[in-house]
Amino acid sequence: MSIINMPRGTQDILPSESKKWQYIENELRKISSNFCYEEIRTPMFESTELFARGVGDTTDIVQKEMYTFLDKSDRSLTLRPEGTAGAVRSYIENKLFADVIKPQKLFYIGPMFRYERKQKGRYRQFVQYGVEVIGEESPKIDAEVISLAYNIYKNFGIKNIKVSINSLGNPEERKSYNEALIKHFEPRINEFCKDCQTRLYKNPMRILDCKIDANHELIKTAPKLLDFLGEESLAYFNKVLQYLDELEVKYEVDSNLVRGLDYYTHTAFEIMIDNPEVELKTLCGGGRYNGLVELLGGPVGEKGIGFALSIERLLLALESENISLPIDNNIDVFVVSMGDEANDFAMKLTNDLRLANFKVQNDYFDKKMKAQIKLADRYNAKYTIIIGETELLEQEVAIKNMANYEQEKVQIKNIKNYLENKLRGE
Ligand code: ATP
Ligand code: MG
Repeated sequence: MSIINMPRGTQDILPSESKKWQYIENELRKISSNFCYEEIRTPMFESTELFARGVGDTTDIVQKEMYTFLDKSDRSLTLRPEGTAGAVRSYIENKLFADVIKPQKLFYIGPMFRYERKQKGRYRQFVQYGVEVIGEESPKIDAEVISLAYNIYKNFGIKNIKVSINSLGNPEERKSYNEALIKHFEPRINEFCKDCQTRLYKNPMRILDCKIDANHELIKTAPKLLDFLGEESLAYFNKVLQYLDELEVKYEVDSNLVRGLDYYTHTAFEIMIDNPEVELKTLCGGGRYNGLVELLGGPVGEKGIGFALSIERLLLALESENISLPIDNNIDVFVVSMGDEANDFAMKLTNDLRLANFKVQNDYFDKKMKAQIKLADRYNAKYTIIIGETELLEQEVAIKNMANYEQEKVQIKNIKNYLENKLRGE
């Protein structure tokens, strides 16, 4: 055991795993690009104030989970716990609202940091992919965003998922709803956890998604937010659902799906694993935040919607359905060489082939033939090129197909062409 270990809740992603991550990240970039979302990269840390306001100081994230520190000039900074606040800050600071393209359709991929209890699928540093559509609002945009999130999982072959969706209406509708909730819980609030007791007046909707009291009968009998929505909000919600039907997104309306903060409006959704055997079900969360741009000092009336998912949970979902990703673990060629001259030549040939865009490895240590062939197998080489003194003399090498052990003589000057045909032909 070494004296220095990695911090709790972090992980090393070793080469065998990092291939999966690269594959997933590439797929995420591809699907983002098909939906016409462009990447935004914001700093890994921001002023603490941004998250206190942007994420909301009654949330678990701000109250319990932030990595906050003073820099050497005594500024309070925080490692980003999520991506929306930074993206919206950047949207405002860089005046993206003045662009001809509206709404701006942004995506991000990168590490986020939360001080959480470590458990399966929950890390202190984790990678989120998310999108933000900022500027205008339309039920079409809500449906597009949900369809994007949903199809990310479908695209990886994950079958058992469903979207939980709710509408949070507008701030006035939520105000009367909150009053109804206070009335409902107040007489028996002492039966709830400490957090819920403080939530009652500050943020009563959060009681509904308390993890400790989830099974309390008052949660089941609580008033439903949908009953407090006015005509306009209901029409908006129904339009979103209609589009989801048309886009063949499987969803379930869940009236207990809430977000407590004032700037959340209308659509809120989560994507869950639909499999009773999996304990950690939430893969992705998102929703509309029409009040956020203004709250962070941007122009009045700029609307927004987004979601975030973590790659760690996506990997869990893949695991839960026994899906293995189509990852290429092969190299194209291993160059086997015997004798000083051939070894030197192998060095040059390897380099040439690499520069011609083949994946190629050679032996560095003048190993015996058998050991080199073994190494070629370890590398999963599709072909080996075998070079000895005679081959150099005759300017002709043996190229062996490692799948069927068929071997052909190929003139040195024709190696590239030969490989080109074999590996990229058809
Ligand atoms: P949870 O209720 O699981 O704590 P959350 O509401 O804190 O989730 P969001 O802030 O909405 O999560 O983040 C979006 C997604 O990011 C979550 O649905 C989840 O898949 C993932 N996620 C959140 N926290 C972590 C973490 N600590 N490690 C890995 N993935 C995470
Ligand atoms: Mg959380």
